Amino acid sequence: MARDNSLLRGVSTRAVHGGERPDKETGASSPSIVMSSTFVVDAPLSFSAESREHDAPYVYGRWGNPTVRQLEDKLTLLEEGEACVCFASGMAATSALLLSLLKHGDHVIMSDVNYPGTAELARNTLPRFGIEVTTVDSGQTEQVAEALRPNTRLVWIETPANPILRLTDIRVTAELAHSVGAELAVDSTFASPIATRPITLGADYVVHSLTKYIGGHGDAMGGAIIGSKASLARIDLEGQVHLGGIISPFNAWLILRGAATLPLRMQAHEKNAMHIAEFLEQHPKVSSIRYPGLASHPQHELACRQMDNFSGMIAIQVPGGRDVAARMMQELSIFHYAVSLGHHRSLIFWIGTEDLVKNSFKLEGKALADYRAWAGDGVFRLSIGLEDVEDLTADLDQVLSG
Ligand SMILES: *Cc1c(COP(=O)(O)O)cnc(C)c1O
Repeated sequence: MARDNSLLRGVSTRAVHGGERPDKETGASSPSIVMSSTFVVDAPLSFSAESREHDAPYVYGRWGNPTVRQLEDKLTLLEEGEACVCFASGMAATSALLLSLLKHGDHVIMSDVNYPGTAELARNTLPRFGIEVTTVDSGQTEQVAEALRPNTRLVWIETPANPILRLTDIRVTAELAHSVGAELAVDSTFASPIATRPITLGADYVVHSLTKYIGGHGDAMGGAIIGSKASLARIDLEGQVHLGGIISPFNAWLILRGAATLPLRMQAHEKNAMHIAEFLEQHPKVSSIRYPGLASHPQHELACRQMDNFSGMIAIQVPGGRDVAARMMQELSIFHYAVSLGHHRSLIFWIGTEDLVKNSFKLEGKALADYRAWAGDGVFRLSIGLEDVEDLTADLDQVLSG
């Protein structure tokens, strides 16, 4: 069967067919899970991965795997990039990007609010290698502009950012980064490629935790970096082959299967989340709410410009949040009180401010005051799933009003 990618035009066609090919030997329509750590070779080849090409024959499981390759090709199409490398987790992708790209003496600008693992890696690990990190509120692009230096190598943003759903203008930030010869990496996990395709807005790298929306079912961990062929070749060698955080073919297969329904799921996540956001905005026990799809989100205008789908993540403040959280653990019937996000099951978790700003974000002064101004002593992060929305609102109402 011929496979002409140029015919995979629409996002739903890409999600279903992108990267997948019927098995050459058996004709199997569904991708095969190739669980083999080594491959029989029929021509001389180098024992070093240094000189290997991305589409060279398979040699060794850490260098590449046919099931993983199908996922990489699907994600390349969905993000409208040129190449993709998958990893064992979102953090494996993040660390592979940072450690493949950066060297002693480089400067990085990073949003001061983001996924805690990324925040801690940047603040605790990178400086040990002589890499300087400046954190800014990237929602205010003038702060990115002010932080630029001649040795700025990378600007790292997350949009929407965990946990307060702050947005960053990708197009403007990419222009700023490029003005000093730096590159822009966007952690687009909360958006998914259905909402935002950062490469089309000028970003150099898109990073995903596949554990979230793209896998979508809470059963497999994975990560990915999408970008240009040239820059991904380096990440492929240094980040994948040498750092070694490869994804298992079985997990790649689960995520491949999940990704096929991503466009449909994102529509349903958004529809449910919009309904619940409107319900929570009116709820007497909820003191504030952030959802990019609500007109009350301070960056709603940017959300409308940059997001084709408002996704399923909501943040709310409830007075006495810590105690309400303790009740939720006992009393919720449908929502799982659990971390993570982007699954078909609805999830909720209270994210206390104290610990996060001290240990992860290390915020001080105005940045700390700005974070507290909205997050107070903590926020509930809701990941709205695919259940019947009336059941979800009833479950929340029962605990909030109790
Ligand atoms: C979960 C997450 C990560 C880390 O991904 P893992 O798969 O858990 O390693 C990174 N960034 C964001 C925005 C996330 O939500």
